[in-house]
Amino acid sequence: MLNAAFKDYSLHPATAAFLARAHGLMIDGRSVAALAGRRRDVFDPASEEAFTTVAEASPEDVDLAVAAARRAFEGDWARVTPSQRGRMLNRMAELIETNGDELAELECLNSGKPLQFCRNVDIFGVADMFRYMAGWATKITGDTHNPSMPGEWHAYTLRQPVGVVGQILPWNFPMNMAAWKIAPALAAGCTIVLKPAEATPLTALRLAELALEAGIPAGVINVVTGKGSVIGDAITNHPGIDKVAFTGSTEVGQHIARNCVSSNLKKVSLELGGKSPVIVFPDADLDAAVAGIAGSIFFHAGQVCAAGSRLYVHEKIYDRVVEAVAAKAAGLKVGPGMLPDHDLGPVISRAQRESVMAYIEKGRAEGAEVLTGGRALGAKGHFVEPTVLAGTGPGMAVHDEEIFGPVLCAMRFGDEDLDAIAARANASPYGLSSSIWTRDLSVAHRLAKRIQSGIVNVNTHTSPDASLPYGGYKQSGWGRERGAEVLDLYTQIKAVAVKLA
Ligand code: NAD
Repeated sequence: MLNAAFKDYSLHPATAAFLARAHGLMIDGRSVAALAGRRRDVFDPASEEAFTTVAEASPEDVDLAVAAARRAFEGDWARVTPSQRGRMLNRMAELIETNGDELAELECLNSGKPLQFCRNVDIFGVADMFRYMAGWATKITGDTHNPSMPGEWHAYTLRQPVGVVGQILPWNFPMNMAAWKIAPALAAGCTIVLKPAEATPLTALRLAELALEAGIPAGVINVVTGKGSVIGDAITNHPGIDKVAFTGSTEVGQHIARNCVSSNLKKVSLELGGKSPVIVFPDADLDAAVAGIAGSIFFHAGQVCAAGSRLYVHEKIYDRVVEAVAAKAAGLKVGPGMLPDHDLGPVISRAQRESVMAYIEKGRAEGAEVLTGGRALGAKGHFVEPTVLAGTGPGMAVHDEEIFGPVLCAMRFGDEDLDAIAARANASPYGLSSSIWTRDLSVAHRLAKRIQSGIVNVNTHTSPDASLPYGGYKQSGWGRERGAEVLDLYTQIKAVAVKLA
């Protein structure tokens, strides 16, 4: 069945109970109505039905959230020891696992991603991020220094929390992106005003409730739901916010960076778009490569910042690999993520489906050959067929721009040197992720050095581990999330110099 009505889903009792509640803003540990009393619908992208509502905040609500976060930062949260923070983060991880069925269903209903991925992949990743950051809470330290200035000195650095942080999330991985931002900010001792994407507010609200249950004091995590252009702007312009962490499109990222600079020069980190290359050499394990290529672009209907959307295959194996990827694409089952056995859910919205279809049409008009897919599916629900395009290259919109849909551009390369292959991979304003498929370690490491992207994967396209720094070269962003590196975003260094004699 391609389309389903919301009533066709069988929901866990905890999910049904959550959906039945009136969702307010989470401010100072309480769920409160928006000051202006406005609410907005939340839609299921598979059935296009509104299934619950959330509060729609205004800038005045953001003021209250910032004030609560500031009070917590200077009050209760400042008195919590690093060890206690670590224990709270570990408790969060346990609660995420205990409430995994509910969280996975909320994520699936709201984002359209197949339930089995939400349950088996997302819940693990989200809990793991809290556990990994729990370990860091007690290990954030400064250094001692040996100054060469005349006299006798005792000099050291303190690494201190940056303060109240504004965190703005995208709709493709709402719960993961929340965890990537909340967990390190709390490990570092910051407090938070979090804004989920308009389309996907539910798991962020539920995580904020679980945080209270985990013992994290009121006011440490505040969640405001509503329009990016209104409350996103209020957050990025707010004088009471010390730092903004953003994940989303490059265009909005540029706007946010300008706001952060022109308001109070707040610090800002940006995780932005991508157009990631996948490079396959003839000596690769081709079965693994085909599965990896298909997974990298069709998982979550291609709405993945790191999606492997530009495929470069050596001409010796091009036909074999591209035909196999196209066959795999044609065999994928597209349908509501809440119903079993679907590989791909819908894209997030009508506008997103129209945008993906417009790219496919533009590709056709510019001379691309559609090897498989290329159509929107169903009368209801925002479904798009997994699509493979050949005959694409630089200068074509499908090659140059982020589509954020299940559309792969396949291209060939010959016996070129690694600099030439790297130049093809690097011919993009983005530089987020990439993958190299080969059994030749020398080729893999030499090419890894040459590719301009924040992460290079070899014989896989994904490596979603909490310990690995993640972020972009070029227009894919500023800063690194995950790993020890993310703590740089949420801490600042103070040098203390004591003249002893
Ligand atoms: P988006 O830029 O449209 O929206 C992201 C967030 O910004 C949303 O919460 C939105 O409400 C908010 N926003 C919109 N206008 C704003 C404004 N004027 N001020 C402040 N906030 C505002 O992005 P999206 O469509 O939700 O997500 C898709 C994009 O995110 C893609 O480009 C994708 O590559 C990128 N992404 C990047 C990563 C990464 O780690 N690099 C991860 C996931 C998604």
